[in-house]
Amino acid sequence: MRRGLTVLTYHRVLPQERCARYPFPALVMPEAAFAAQVEWLAKRCEVLPLREALPRSRSGAKPRRPLVAITFDDGYADNHDLAAPILEASGVRATFFVTTGFLEATRPLWFDRGAELLGAVGAAHAARSVARAIGFAGAPVGDPPEALLAWLEALKQESAEARERFLAELERTLGRVVPLAGYEPMTRAQALALHQRGHELGSHSQTHPILPSLSDEELHAEIAASREQLAQWSGASIEGFCYPNGDCDERVLAAVRDAGYRYACTTRDGVAGPSDDVLALPRICVTNHAVSSANGRFRLTAFRAEVARFHALWR
Ligand SMILES: [Zn+2]
Repeated sequence: MRRGLTVLTYHRVLPQERCARYPFPALVMPEAAFAAQVEWLAKRCEVLPLREALPRSRSGAKPRRPLVAITFDDGYADNHDLAAPILEASGVRATFFVTTGFLEATRPLWFDRGAELLGAVGAAHAARSVARAIGFAGAPVGDPPEALLAWLEALKQESAEARERFLAELERTLGRVVPLAGYEPMTRAQALALHQRGHELGSHSQTHPILPSLSDEELHAEIAASREQLAQWSGASIEGFCYPNGDCDERVLAAVRDAGYRYACTTRDGVAGPSDDVLALPRICVTNHAVSSANGRFRLTAFRAEVARFHALWR
């Protein structure tokens, strides 16, 4: 554990006032709180992109300072616009796992689209009748928006086609289409800029599916093709993968290895020790809830405790 590598997970960084409106509080960190976290990490830890931190953690040498890698999942524009300047102000470089298909998308990621549609006032009745109409058998008992997360979880279990059918039908019924505004991905040029400024790019698949549910061909497109695409766009060699939703099994793991990735991240909670499989690395997801007081103010002591949770170096 003393030689462990702490890999932190973030998704989005937004100004405080926009955080309140985002339907997934666990996936968004207010800009000011993120800045305070990075400043503290830069002073107290050795913060490196995963491609540099991982070999360092396995070299056998005892690090002078705790080894930390900061990772971002999904590939939102705010990673480039807000998070990267904060990291760079402290001289820190991070790893950005981007969903390659999302970078060229004209629609939000399916869960953002689903959350906005299901969260819409008066959507409850519409959602249930649409679910019935398309034979969406897994629709949960409670109605959205109260049971929003249960609906999204049930949708996650559906095939990509069934999910798209449901969302498209819901849009038609509600007479509205969810715009990309507020959910924008970074552009290819912005991903390239991150790479050129010393950050690491990794793949988070092509369309953010539940990988174990895919056919072998689909798996190849999501895992191997996304790596090639990202390498082509950036000129970088892509060594890291991150499983969407953390979902992986032996077949998925083998596909990641065969595609040429050297390491991959899960959503399993913990610090990566020397015996952890490099293709199934644990991480610590930093949520605003865990690092804030009851009135919503950022607490450095809570962040410190969260990061040190598994780490003997701070004890
Ligand atoms: Zn993701």
